[in-house]
Amino acid sequence: MKQRVFSGARPTGRQHIGNYLGAIRNYVALQEQYDCIYCVVDIHALTSLEETDRLQESIHEMMLDWLAAGLDPQRSILFVQSHVPEVMELHTLLSMVTPLGWLLRVPTFKEKARMQPHNVNYGLVGYPVLMTADIVLYKAEVVPVGEDQLPHLELAREIARRFNSIFGPTFPEPQSKLTSFPLVLGLNGAQKMGKTYDNYIELAATPEETSKLVMTAVTDPARRYRSDLGHPEVCNVFNLHHFFSSARVDEIAVECRSAGIGCVDCKKLLAQGINSELEGFRERRAAFAARPQCVAEALSGGSRQAQVIAKETLAEVKEKMGLVQRSV
Ligand code: SF4
Repeated sequence: MKQRVFSGARPTGRQHIGNYLGAIRNYVALQEQYDCIYCVVDIHALTSLEETDRLQESIHEMMLDWLAAGLDPQRSILFVQSHVPEVMELHTLLSMVTPLGWLLRVPTFKEKARMQPHNVNYGLVGYPVLMTADIVLYKAEVVPVGEDQLPHLELAREIARRFNSIFGPTFPEPQSKLTSFPLVLGLNGAQKMGKTYDNYIELAATPEETSKLVMTAVTDPARRYRSDLGHPEVCNVFNLHHFFSSARVDEIAVECRSAGIGCVDCKKLLAQGINSELEGFRERRAAFAARPQCVAEALSGGSRQAQVIAKETLAEVKEKMGLVQRSV
């Protein structure tokens, strides 16, 4: 029997190549080996209360990207977190076995509290408990994560372990599956590619928009003139070549070090590589966008399937916690 994978992603609208390389491409590949459950975590998105008026649009755009990238509703369960409300009930029940000290120590809570001092809400503190509920509600055994999420997953494992030790074996302790390319820097070469830093290229961008953005990418800062010898190992454009021009990456390194290629031409090559890799994706996305009901159909089918598992787990949890009569 295949192991079950769970992963959730916030509804951030149109996805960028950082999402693609760091998560989506991996999600698609995992469908070959695992039973996969992929969830758009809209409740998590409420912790910041930003852009709630665009939430539905963001979910729709993100799903178009997921479907176009190859996430297949016939093979994987794709759904929106709040469409299976059992997760909120399990969140409350798990909160009873989670010491507050564990949550207050989480580095991302402290960081979020710093970033939104006007709104340090309970949801921010309870975020890891809701994340645990997301995973264990479906008894997922494997969670694909980037290195930065490992502490969250460890906390989920601790909460599951604590529940199991009090109420008896119930949840598998989810194991991490690190993605092969966990860190994709943005065009500024300084931070992880993301909408927060406005340093990203959307998967759905046109070839022209993509080329224009690539030309703005920061390169080796020591290479100020065309004749300067380059250092590809410190250049984010070179890093992106690994993903989009892998067959030529050794040649580009040699050419950069000897100033045989200039940064402008090197970026043009990268733009070609990205546009060629994403050509099929863009065609499929346009086809899905022309038939918007396909997103609603995928999500409603997914939430029905997810809810079957969720109801079963929740019934077991309630019985073990004494909320309902034990069956004999
Ligand atoms: Fe980077 Fe390419 Fe310029 Fe070298 S030639 S510094 S790899 S952009």
